[in-house]
Amino acid sequence: NDSAELKALDLAHHLPAQADYALLEQLGGSRIITHAEGCVITDIDGKSLLDGMAGLWCVNVGYGRSELAEAAYKQMLELPYYNTFFKTATAPAVRLAAKIAEKMVLSNPDLKHVFFNSSGSEANDTVFRLVRHYWTLKGEPDRQVFISRRNAYHGSTVAGASLGGMTFMHAQGGLPIPGIEHVRQPYLFGEGFGQDPDAFADACVQDIEDRILSVGPDKVAAFIGEPVQGAGGVVIPPQSYWPKVEALCRKYGILLICDEVICGFGRLGQWFGHQHYGVKPDIIAMAKGLSSGYLPISAVGVSSHIVEVLKTGGDFVHGYTYSGHPAACAVALANIGIIEREGLIERTREVTGPYLATALTRLDGHPLVGEARSIGLLGAVEIVSEKGTNLRFKGAEGHAGPVVRDICIKNGLMVRGIRDTIVMCPPLIITEAEIDRIVDILEASLNEAEPVLRAL
Ligand code: PMP
Repeated sequence: NDSAELKALDLAHHLPAQADYALLEQLGGSRIITHAEGCVITDIDGKSLLDGMAGLWCVNVGYGRSELAEAAYKQMLELPYYNTFFKTATAPAVRLAAKIAEKMVLSNPDLKHVFFNSSGSEANDTVFRLVRHYWTLKGEPDRQVFISRRNAYHGSTVAGASLGGMTFMHAQGGLPIPGIEHVRQPYLFGEGFGQDPDAFADACVQDIEDRILSVGPDKVAAFIGEPVQGAGGVVIPPQSYWPKVEALCRKYGILLICDEVICGFGRLGQWFGHQHYGVKPDIIAMAKGLSSGYLPISAVGVSSHIVEVLKTGGDFVHGYTYSGHPAACAVALANIGIIEREGLIERTREVTGPYLATALTRLDGHPLVGEARSIGLLGAVEIVSEKGTNLRFKGAEGHAGPVVRDICIKNGLMVRGIRDTIVMCPPLIITEAEIDRIVDILEASLNEAEPVLRAL
């Protein structure tokens, strides 16, 4: 049948992302997803799963939006492609830049210029080169060092993975490249366990300041961080963390960059995650929710004060064939139209986000749950071996998440297991009934996982 044939082709030729290829062989190939509607994905064997991950943190408006397919179709017939290298642009790219600017100026009136790329990683590569070039043009060529956080995820390219703070990624390919410093992550359930959130925020910010001073304040170009670390395990910082980071950046004249690839486009109940924390970044990177994943596109939002300096330097020799791809821009515009028309951001902030937070409290009494937390429609469940502690299962340390995830998938829920944490990020169209279903399946799966984990 189709399924067996495709799985064989997968094993013979296809190298999926972030996969243990030997394990895939044991499993008989990838789970091949064939179609989806709303918040439900279906695989080639006909098994349906509630998509608690919105694809990979991206399908914010849900699946099956014919409006987005039509936007792509119409644009492809009209003008499928043109580049931005010959002092040229296309109508959808120009319109989308203006639309994104309209949202960015809500928090920072200076943040109104947009550079397009195709992925979050490319956006962060753009950030990397743009910032270093900016400081050189500004007459401070020694300011080249980026400060990032441990366990941050900023992409998979050389610059993206280097900016990221995942040591297991660094170990593959000889990363990070020089000039990147990684500091403490504001992980209350980890290093900050049991501490007062504000005191812990102060300690994290102190770690940044210590690093600035040890590198030399006149050598630091920028601080980069996700408003809430996503792939790092949905690390929600104490509320006072970001304003303090911002103050530190201003104190030393360092650029503040927010990676909004996951947090942007409604995830935290605002257009951008930094708006939740009331800070004004100089630069932001965005992708995923910008087009809800229907076509690949990303963007870098850049402040006027930076653009004014870039204008003094002649050509900024940077760009991609697909920068400002017209069909992707048309889809992103239609996607933003849906978010606006359906009030998905307000709904996340006022209805479904609080509903998820309340629903997750049902897990608080579970013997395996150290903490269940969420912000907007981004949530996490910490799996512990002893209630009331942040101790992990010895035999499964760093793996309890994937164990529970596999059981969730068997039970009809797609979530992600990151080390000892289950993370979730459902489409913004999720209903209250579907949120209940997520929590019910999580609870049943944790029950099922308990003897498995205790036996390891
Ligand atoms: N930044 C963040 C915060 C991300 O979560 C991701 C992807 N998960 C990226 C950057 C990289 O994006 P992409 O996979 O589109 O290159």
